[in-house]
Amino acid sequence: MLAKTIQVNSGGKEKNTYDAIVIGSGISGGWATKELCELGLKTLVLERGRDVQHLKDYPTMMKKPWELPHRGRMSNQFLKENPLISKAAGFGEDTAHFFIEDKDHPYVQDKPFDWIRGYQLGGKSLIWGRACQRWSKYEFEAPAKLGYGIDWPIRYEDVAPWYSHVEKFIGVCGNKDGIESMPDGEFLPPFEFNCVEKHVKQTLLKEYKNRFLVQGRWAHLSQPNEIHLKQGRGQCQARNLCMRGCPYGSYFSSNSTTLPWAAKTGNLTMRPFSVVHSIIYDELKEKATGVRIIDSKTKEVTEYFSRIIFLNASALNSNLVLLNSTSNRFPNGLGNDNDTLGKYIGFHLYRGFVNASFEGFTDKYYYVRNPTEGILANYRNLGKQEMDYVGGFTTFSAAYRTRASQPADKPQLGADYKDAISKPGPWEMYMYMQGETVPKKTNHVRLSETEKDQWGIPLLVTSVGYDDNDEKMVKDFLEQSQEMLTKAGGKILNAIDNKQPPGLDIHEMGGVRMGRDPKTSMLNQWNQLHHCKNVFVTDGACMTSTGNQSPSILYMTLTARAANHAVEEMKKGNL
Ligand SMILES: Cc1cc2nc3c(=O)[nH]c(=O)nc-3n(C[C@H](O)[C@H](O)[C@H](O)COP(=O)(O)OP(=O)(O)OC[C@H]3O[C@@H](n4cnc5c(N)ncnc54)[C@H](O)[C@@H]3O)c2cc1C
Repeated sequence: MLAKTIQVNSGGKEKNTYDAIVIGSGISGGWATKELCELGLKTLVLERGRDVQHLKDYPTMMKKPWELPHRGRMSNQFLKENPLISKAAGFGEDTAHFFIEDKDHPYVQDKPFDWIRGYQLGGKSLIWGRACQRWSKYEFEAPAKLGYGIDWPIRYEDVAPWYSHVEKFIGVCGNKDGIESMPDGEFLPPFEFNCVEKHVKQTLLKEYKNRFLVQGRWAHLSQPNEIHLKQGRGQCQARNLCMRGCPYGSYFSSNSTTLPWAAKTGNLTMRPFSVVHSIIYDELKEKATGVRIIDSKTKEVTEYFSRIIFLNASALNSNLVLLNSTSNRFPNGLGNDNDTLGKYIGFHLYRGFVNASFEGFTDKYYYVRNPTEGILANYRNLGKQEMDYVGGFTTFSAAYRTRASQPADKPQLGADYKDAISKPGPWEMYMYMQGETVPKKTNHVRLSETEKDQWGIPLLVTSVGYDDNDEKMVKDFLEQSQEMLTKAGGKILNAIDNKQPPGLDIHEMGGVRMGRDPKTSMLNQWNQLHHCKNVFVTDGACMTSTGNQSPSILYMTLTARAANHAVEEMKKGNL
């Protein structure tokens, strides 16, 4: 990282003053940083985790399975001590260093909620799955139109140019498929479908009016453009080891892309090991003036000052920071005049999974170099409510050739066993859901009145659960996915409602929602707090509803849009 890194509390208000402060350096914070630095603002990034430099700090990126002491698994002791984090998708011996450990970061669960976190420079951008579909017009319109939420203050047309801005920079592969429920973007070439995926895609087109199984949109450089080469990134080698950190910089992360780019401007200062305690509000000036941090190692408290603040600590942590930012003017948390802060938490419904085996296709290749999955675009409740529930779901899907296995009555070791498992087995295909959930006031987070973390900050209490709408959607997904795979000639192996707690979907959202009316929302159409305009919240906390697309590219898009608006407003003297 080329940026200056503050190691000690330099003291003195002037020395600690910047044009902008960004809280958090993950997917959305990285984007705020890039845009603000490029627009000429001296920007301080406050990150609670350690420094992680691209390449240098990816210790497992080139390791072979036999070079990992436990062949990729964690020890039983670790699993016993970390029941929460070890449930996360992709967690293992090769990626554990990019996740937190349970005991270091407790929280209180009113109801079961698995809160998955990665506290380091780059946040969860190092370990995300990279799915990058655009929201459709339906998702922005549906909550108000169908009466299950307040209206978004923006529409698809407001964000479409910013999606393009982000896609071109990070690199997203995919096809232009012309599907209304999953709009096209600025794509690099997609990864190829295999023979079974092509077959199922064709079957669905024949059997249904509106079921489009397409090559997914993922933040991978399938074929880098000039801008990506300038970023120092190269072509994806389809190793499918992305979550270890990529030696080619081929998937998008803050560490490979936005932060080094911001550093090149000379406007960036990074302060890792900085746990943001609260945002400082000045009652005379009627705006926020800075941020109070606690050094995670020394516990020293320092204040930093700036004209604007971007809060990008990830959805629930941004709620926590605002709830903990109290003053005479805002005794219930910064900007919280209407008591909606922390309320209307949403997440994605990930409970349904179906798979099937397929006969035939055995003359086709059986090991595919493809780090992505196909996506069946949402086909439910488009523009009108047709089901006994609201919202829709995206279906992720892939077909793969299994390995043959040794019959159960034969020894599971030795030469015969090795022979048996080195042969290809039959094809299988899976489908799993990513469903919209309804944001409700009762689904909320708040500060614990009694318990604090090791830095003296109140613990977050999560009170988030499923409802009847979720149950109906899971049931529909399971029925429809079985029907589709059966129509394509598959034999159903499993159709499972895993009943996992919310949170494990890793798409927690809301609590600081955008809206048209300051009486019912926290943020305006530019992600500014209605009642404290120089604070912008552009991570998942800002989500008015959850939609059914993977959310992170929308966070990046809203962040870029808000950052450019902020700088325009600063130039006009409004901020
Ligand atoms: C395994 C996995 C797979 C995923 N797959 C996908 C996917 O395919 N598509 C998709 O869209 N999304 C996916 N996600 C979700 C995605 O990672 C998040 O939506 C995204 O990272 C959110 O960005 P963010 O900037 O809000 O938060 P983060 O990326 O988590 O960054 C927040 C940063 O803020 C820091 N921070 C927190 N609190 C404080 C504080 N008090 N003071 C200072 N710093 C603080 C954290 O340390 C962190 O660095 C996945 C997540 C996981 C874990």
